[in-house]
Amino acid sequence: MHYFSLNKQAPDSSFKNAVIKGLAPDKGLYFPKSIQPLPKSFFDTIDQLSDTEIAFEVIKQFVFPEIPEKELRQIIEDTLSFDFPVIALNDSISVLELYHGPTMAFKDVGARFMARCLGYFNQNNSEKITVLVATSGDTGGAVAHGFLGVKGVDVVILYPSAKVSEIQEKQLTTLGQNITALEVDGVFDDCQYMVKRAFLDHELTSKLQLTSANSINVARWLPQMFYFFFAYKRLKVSHDKIVFSVPSGNFGNICAGMMAQQLGLPVNTFIAANNANKVVTDFLKSNSYEPRPSVQTISNAMDVGDPSNFVRILEIYQHDFDRLKENLSSYSFTDAETRSAMLEIYNNYNYVADPHGAVGYLGAKSYLENHPDAHCVFLETAHPTKFLDVVEKVIQKKIELPAQIQSVMGKKKSAIPIQNYEGLKAFLLKT
Ligand SMILES: *Cc1c(COP(=O)(O)O)cnc(C)c1O
Repeated sequence: MHYFSLNKQAPDSSFKNAVIKGLAPDKGLYFPKSIQPLPKSFFDTIDQLSDTEIAFEVIKQFVFPEIPEKELRQIIEDTLSFDFPVIALNDSISVLELYHGPTMAFKDVGARFMARCLGYFNQNNSEKITVLVATSGDTGGAVAHGFLGVKGVDVVILYPSAKVSEIQEKQLTTLGQNITALEVDGVFDDCQYMVKRAFLDHELTSKLQLTSANSINVARWLPQMFYFFFAYKRLKVSHDKIVFSVPSGNFGNICAGMMAQQLGLPVNTFIAANNANKVVTDFLKSNSYEPRPSVQTISNAMDVGDPSNFVRILEIYQHDFDRLKENLSSYSFTDAETRSAMLEIYNNYNYVADPHGAVGYLGAKSYLENHPDAHCVFLETAHPTKFLDVVEKVIQKKIELPAQIQSVMGKKKSAIPIQNYEGLKAFLLKT
């Protein structure tokens, strides 16, 4: 598969090059040059396929021939070593649990897939690759775990000091080996800005082979298509066309869902569920995209003021605002609304949602007000224990730590404090 840059000022790229470079030389995001829908027979028999077979069929056109069939099957097997259950809360709302991976956030899938692709491409390469990644909470842990021990790859994670949960911080600061955490005196947008600036810095890029593991990287973004197919497989018998409510930050996950729809997945529409960071909710009202600084919320992985994947969504809809609006609804919710939703879900359905999932639930409920016949699936993007203090305070109950979380809690944090871009640069030049 070939990819082009959405800024249209760079040559087309192979999958391999797009994974290694992250961004195109003109700083555009890569996008596949063609999208071949899957045959009808695939959807007719999807319930007879295993998750790994589905994933293989879904992703192969985007990575062939650079990763051959045998290796791709192995990468998928290794990536998807956990389940993706769908649980019905009532007749209109189900939840798709995406948190059964090693760091208990949906980002495990993309991070593990990307790490294995990069490991495959770099196996005979003497030049080291440095993965530079900004995290608002969950990316850091998922990337750290996904890349831990991958040969020839160093990972440097920037996270905003005191703005991620204790568990999130442990997950990204306790691994050691090829993983380094930089604790930034600032907010997520500062971290993201520093990463972007590093990619533009010739002094750095002439000395280091830098790449990103944010959802701008096609190998992290595209495997997120899998979830939507898995949900369809699990719900197909009872519901023909479903609506996905996706708690959104950088809009990588929802944009992957839209790619799944381009492949032929029968989806009615998408709901972008936002917290107070609502650039896209506002865009759909005004047709004017106005990025702004992020504000801090209890669903911190969605505290993004300028979602990087939004340009990919515009590309999918060929910048046709009306077509996009037909296929995307968006709502924004306050922290107070999110807390009440968590309590409501707990009281009514005996289900514990994390703040991100709760925002997704609220998106589904808002949509159902005008579309009572729809079946909405909201994505539960992280396990509630990752936001323990918020969740326990709301539902007034202790929740048990799963084994994945328990194993990091006793470990010692190791992070390097960074004040500004110069600090980052000095660190990178030293390594
Ligand atoms: C990253 C993340 C999101 C947002 O996903 P995007 O692909 O950036 O829109 C939502 N919830 C959780 C728990 C996350 O970690």
